[in-house]
Amino acid sequence: MNIIVLGPQGSGKGTQGKKIAQTYGIPHIATGDELRKMRELPTPTGQMIKEVMDRGELVSDDLLIRMIRDRLDRGDTLGGFVLDGFPRTLVQAEALDELLGDLGRSIDIVFEFQVPDRRQLIDRLTKRAAEENRTDDTPEAIQTRLAEFDEKTAPLVEYYRTSRGNVVGIHADRTVGEVFHEIEDALQAVEARA
Ligand code: AMP
Repeated sequence: MNIIVLGPQGSGKGTQGKKIAQTYGIPHIATGDELRKMRELPTPTGQMIKEVMDRGELVSDDLLIRMIRDRLDRGDTLGGFVLDGFPRTLVQAEALDELLGDLGRSIDIVFEFQVPDRRQLIDRLTKRAAEENRTDDTPEAIQTRLAEFDEKTAPLVEYYRTSRGNVVGIHADRTVGEVFHEIEDALQAVEARA
């Protein structure tokens, strides 16, 4: 099963993405985690990534598309994958479609994590920044990230809804177990249709 988890930072998509991956034995591909490793490299690219991430802005589409192309080329994705944090722009979504088309694959389901209350998101992110020592999660960066999400990533819901109609909305402001239960139901429904 080829799955995308889409939602603002702090909506719990990372936690759920990992749970899906563990349960179904498929890789969890989190571009933010990859970039957090790359930003430590003592190279110009590492430095550039660090600066962009610290500001809460998006890293270039080119770099991300290359990263995903290399990752999807690996054999462990053949049985499916969970994409977490990618795509984040329309350019990335179109590139992903092309990439998957070349490989004879496609996205089966997109989970849209919805958290209506922005303050709740900001609280969660601020707490996580302290707990996980995520130096890129400053209050300014958090604001910028949510603005970037609204402007560039939220429109992808419409993109997937109109191009494939395979978007499932998830009320993410509930417990991890409740949210996962709903996700499993949706995945079973997709499997049953396959
Ligand atoms: P995340 O852990 O997914 O919230 O990502 C943390 C940061 O990594 C984001 O704020 C961006 O700066 C960068 N990032 C992660 N994924 C992408 C992407 N698909 N496109 C551009 N930047 C990304």
